Amino acid sequence: MISTETIVAIATSQTISAIAIIRVSGNDAFTICNTIFKHYKIENFVIANANSHKAYFGNIVDGNEIIDEVLLTIFKAPNSFTGENTVEISCHGSVYIQQKIVQLILHNGAKSAIAGEFTMRAFKNGRMDLSQAEAVADLIASENLAMHKIAINQLKGNISIELNNLRQKLIDFASLLELELDFAEEDVEFANRKELKKLLVEIGEKVTKMSDTFSLGNSIKKGVPIVIAGKPNVGKSTLLNTLLQEEKAIVSEIAGTTRDTIEDTFNINGIAFRLTDTAGIRSTTDIIESIGISKTFEKIEQSALLLYVLDAINFEESDIETVLQNEKINTKKILFILNKTDMKPIENIVNILNQKHLNFVAISAKNNIGIEELKLKLVELSGIEQLQQHQIIITNIRHFEALKSTALHIEMALQNIAINVSSDFLAQDIRIALMHLGSITGTVSSDDLLGNIFSKFCIGK
Ligand code: GDP
Repeated sequence: MISTETIVAIATSQTISAIAIIRVSGNDAFTICNTIFKHYKIENFVIANANSHKAYFGNIVDGNEIIDEVLLTIFKAPNSFTGENTVEISCHGSVYIQQKIVQLILHNGAKSAIAGEFTMRAFKNGRMDLSQAEAVADLIASENLAMHKIAINQLKGNISIELNNLRQKLIDFASLLELELDFAEEDVEFANRKELKKLLVEIGEKVTKMSDTFSLGNSIKKGVPIVIAGKPNVGKSTLLNTLLQEEKAIVSEIAGTTRDTIEDTFNINGIAFRLTDTAGIRSTTDIIESIGISKTFEKIEQSALLLYVLDAINFEESDIETVLQNEKINTKKILFILNKTDMKPIENIVNILNQKHLNFVAISAKNNIGIEELKLKLVELSGIEQLQQHQIIITNIRHFEALKSTALHIEMALQNIAINVSSDFLAQDIRIALMHLGSITGTVSSDDLLGNIFSKFCIGK
């Protein structure tokens, strides 16, 4: 059920600012605002008769008292964000003024919007699907270039288009299977099993390809996880400081956590990197000794990249072997950092690294040499820059889970085709796969799910 009550909320952050925007949406938005708005020229200005998508200058009044000079922008249904009649009041950003105007609107019959209610209405009124509504929240939360790019793509509906295509094809087959159920006695086969199999394989592959992008999507959202390791005194903490130096402003320490879960993030070309387990480096714990400790290993396994620092002065080939011999660490995910290259010629070491076809950069962390090259290498190894313009990247765990469930039921359907099960079992698999697929865009949704999704939005969005 779509609520038609008129809602109001401050859409901008509720602190002192130059201007603030108050949003009013619903059936009575125009009449409510009309009672508190006086156009600066037109005596009996009627919002409902005014032009949509235009701003009007005037005063917000409480009886005879002028509260503020404002701009009122009018959006007539269905051509508004929510799909309803909407008024946006741009007022001066005093917290008092903002609250006073909201109170006036509430007093005239509106109710306070709950978190995400404007976007929920946009979804319920068919202005956007669920994955696009979620993209609105991602867009607001985007902190770097890559996150922004993905959120914009999702908002434009790239996930929806792909999924709706797949769904439609599957729905067509599901209908044929349902038809077979009606003729169960006669043993007819409307849904060609060979073609159905082909379609299921195609959909299974596409869905898996999409869900496989989740770890990359997660890296983009939270920062590409990196671990720095190496023997004592090779220059790990110097490197850490060099990497974080230019970006001090965004160095974050997760508040309230213990030292051993400190994480630092930094940006290179708009891509966020997240250095994990830096506490060990900071407290100059001997990382190589603790490398056997499973926790450190876990960190390395979970990380997208391991920066393994080598000391050019005290280089030993066996250091490289120690890392390479660890089967759990994918060689492609290791970037060897040859440090202290200011101290001696490094041709021999470079030859060894080249012979082994290893990723490496030669630097001097202390003298800031090779750091730019290192940064470029990090960007390259992150794989994020290679993202295609419209490539679908899954960043939302709800979408990821739904895609995995879809793939699972597609797989079950395929197995069932292989053993020639009856149409009703097959139809059941496909119905469940369709349900999971539809849950992403909201074709299939429940109030609980919607409540859960939109409660994470900010109020006023
Ligand atoms: P960690 O134990 O691996 O964290 O190593 P540190 O970062 O504490 O560095 C150990 C020592 O090496 C310190 O005295 C640093 O100043 C020095 N160091 C680090 N990087 C360089 C470098 O590029 N060149 C030179 N010459 N010394 C460095």
